[in-house]
Amino acid sequence: MTTHKYDDQVIIPAIGAQLDMWGVDESLTPVGVYFECPEVDLDSYDHIVVCHSGGKDGWAAFLSILESGVDRSKIELWHHDVDGREGSSLMDWLFMADYNRKLAEAFGVPLYFSWLEGGFEGEMLKHESFSKPHVIETPDGVKRLERNTTRAKPGTRRRFPQVSMDLQTRWCSGALKIDVGRRAINNQERFNRGRTLFITGERREESSGRAKYNQLEPHFCDRRSGKLSRHVDHWRPVLHWSEEEVWAILERHRVIPPVPYRLGWGRSSCMTCIYNGPRIWATMREYFPERVRAIQAYEHEFKTTISRDRIDVVDIATRGKPLEIDDAEALEQAMKTEYTLPIMLPEGQRWQIPKGAFGVESCGAD
Ligand code: SF4
Repeated sequence: MTTHKYDDQVIIPAIGAQLDMWGVDESLTPVGVYFECPEVDLDSYDHIVVCHSGGKDGWAAFLSILESGVDRSKIELWHHDVDGREGSSLMDWLFMADYNRKLAEAFGVPLYFSWLEGGFEGEMLKHESFSKPHVIETPDGVKRLERNTTRAKPGTRRRFPQVSMDLQTRWCSGALKIDVGRRAINNQERFNRGRTLFITGERREESSGRAKYNQLEPHFCDRRSGKLSRHVDHWRPVLHWSEEEVWAILERHRVIPPVPYRLGWGRSSCMTCIYNGPRIWATMREYFPERVRAIQAYEHEFKTTISRDRIDVVDIATRGKPLEIDDAEALEQAMKTEYTLPIMLPEGQRWQIPKGAFGVESCGAD
């Protein structure tokens, strides 16, 4: 890292809100926050955890650190299953878990899944009860992490997360991704030794909220000056990148654009994301009607729609024109759980920018 340049740009901040949100004592976390930090000394870390949802920005973050020439044996990919593994298929793309498994195999790096038991649907149906345990895959096997309910009160959700930049009301990202990752770090002894770099693929260009993110900061699991000496930095290597740069790195490495972009989605994220706009809901209604009906049924059961305008997803769908999907191979894949397409472009084939690139359709917050 070019320390002198960035030392002048230290901002202390967003992490405060995160720490509050998770009830963490801020005084335990040392300062080390950089608003801009496009490079770090990767060799100085013992563990490099790359969160990969299977979308283009996770790919860009992963490929960018491979390009730096870092020792690959330090890298591991993490994927949070939004639907969990208990039978729900309300939110995720069906093939996304297997896609991540196969992309990790293609690059010869380990992949660890983690999830909230019952997934999004289980959490949403919580009624005067506690959230379910988390499950994490680790090098030593699968661990089920019970909740400490001694000081907690039972809670009720029974409605979809609110469309908001505030992670407390848009509870899905917090409950199904951020909190799962937090517990996966806190509950593995191996992270109490050495230095860990936790990497995510947000970009400033995506939203005004993300424009304010710091590029490097202590992760909220960091306890470098506490008894554990657990050093965990959170780095966002592509935070300053444009979408052009993201597609360019996929092309450089001959990574075939993930299926959602081939279908016309501008984001990967959850297939039935609460941020989907009329055109995406219309497309879903045309090609995946059962997924839209499942969401609508819950909206009616809860007497609360995802939209603040009190129109259900089927009504929203009628206000948009479906995307014309001309990629039959991608469409067939979207219906299957097993990922059967190649990850990398075969020799002799020309890389193509997908239909959903640079799209304006709203479909997904993370
Ligand atoms: S992609 Fe959408 S629905 Fe899924 S966790 Fe993120 S905000 Fe929630």
